[in-house]
Amino acid sequence: LDGGESAVEVEITDERPTGERYVWLVGNYAVRDAQGRVEGVGVVVQDVTKRTNAEEALRANNALLRLVADTVPDLLFARDRQHRMTLANPAVLALAGRSEEDVLGRTVREWWHDPRQAELILATDERIMATGQPERIEEEYILDGELRVFQAVKTPLRDRDGQVVGLVGVSRDITRERHYARSLERMVSERTASLSRSLASLEQLLYSIAHDLRAPNRAVHSFAELLEIEAADRLDPRSRLYLDRIKSAALRNDQLILDLLEYGRLAHADVPVEEIELEPVVREALLDIEVLVAERQASIEVRPDFPRVCANRTLLKQVLVNLLGNAVKYVPKERRPHVRVHAEPVDGHALVHIVDNGIGISPDDVGRVFEPFARLPNAVGVPGTGMGLAIVRKAAERMQGEVGVESRPGEGSRFWIRLPAAPCTG
Ligand code: ADP
Repeated sequence: LDGGESAVEVEITDERPTGERYVWLVGNYAVRDAQGRVEGVGVVVQDVTKRTNAEEALRANNALLRLVADTVPDLLFARDRQHRMTLANPAVLALAGRSEEDVLGRTVREWWHDPRQAELILATDERIMATGQPERIEEEYILDGELRVFQAVKTPLRDRDGQVVGLVGVSRDITRERHYARSLERMVSERTASLSRSLASLEQLLYSIAHDLRAPNRAVHSFAELLEIEAADRLDPRSRLYLDRIKSAALRNDQLILDLLEYGRLAHADVPVEEIELEPVVREALLDIEVLVAERQASIEVRPDFPRVCANRTLLKQVLVNLLGNAVKYVPKERRPHVRVHAEPVDGHALVHIVDNGIGISPDDVGRVFEPFARLPNAVGVPGTGMGLAIVRKAAERMQGEVGVESRPGEGSRFWIRLPAAPCTG
């Protein structure tokens, strides 16, 4: 104070052996007489421990944030409401080939090498700050002649009052992951193509085997018939019974071969679809099974108001003939079959239901009814090849549809088929 100053402030750190630490701010103020001579000293001591601790903590916190930003391999950046950069970590600077001075306080328009892309970035940022909604964005840049893909998450920054004051973004280079995903996709589609080729050649083989089997099978049937006629007077009843068995086995075989051929044909045939009125096709299918319906004295209830569907008329009729035929066939002999057919629109599709009061299907078997040659224990005594529902499923698939079944053993089943609703698109 002798030097003419009127106040000297000193910060004193007071470390105690107990480990406690105090920081005192000691202010010395000159008290002067009328001539300006120092007459005495006034001393004010302030405890500033708390303030000092808080400042140190803040400094440490900032240093930590800085360290994090400098260390993460991701791009970390922040911009203010006017799009000026307020933060750009070394990853951002390295990618842009710029220094911190080039970037901070400037908009991407001023420092990003591609002006068109800078405008896109600005537009996205503006949208995020205007809507206040964070966004996940995939961005592609050409860097050193190489396409690089980044996935960025940009989040608006708000002040205490909730006002958007800028945004913060984290962006990750996912170029390698993208390449990997692409090569996986390519591999899957190549394998799928090769699998479909082998499947197609297997189906072709099945088709030609089935085709070639028909001739010898017909020969068996014809020779059994010839034998029956020519040796009629020499045959005893037992031999005649055997011949009958041979003939009916040959007929069953023929039906099986025809079903197989149909199944194979379905896999390859062109399936043009058109807008179709469902109800007349249901009526036509019912005409096809007229004899069966009469034999079983079945009652068939067709509910009105069918939605129009997008389907192939021939296949649709085949599907309905199979499902309606089964609904009448698989009913206990002592019960009169009652079948209900109705349809409803569901999410751009038409759902057709065929409900019977038949023997039903046990939960263990329900999963395999649509498989080729599936004949369940419940089919004993009912003629069939086990191919009908396989054909139904294949036909539905070829029309971009689906089939399914729900059943209560002993009470009945509900088969359904879902088809695209009209009008046909694509
Ligand atoms: P098929 O009638 O020639 O045996 P399907 O493929 O049409 O062949 O049916 C497969 C099996 O599914 C049948 O053998 C039968 O066991 C069962 N099934 C089909 N429809 C019904 C139905 N409506 N109710 C009960 N079981 C059924």
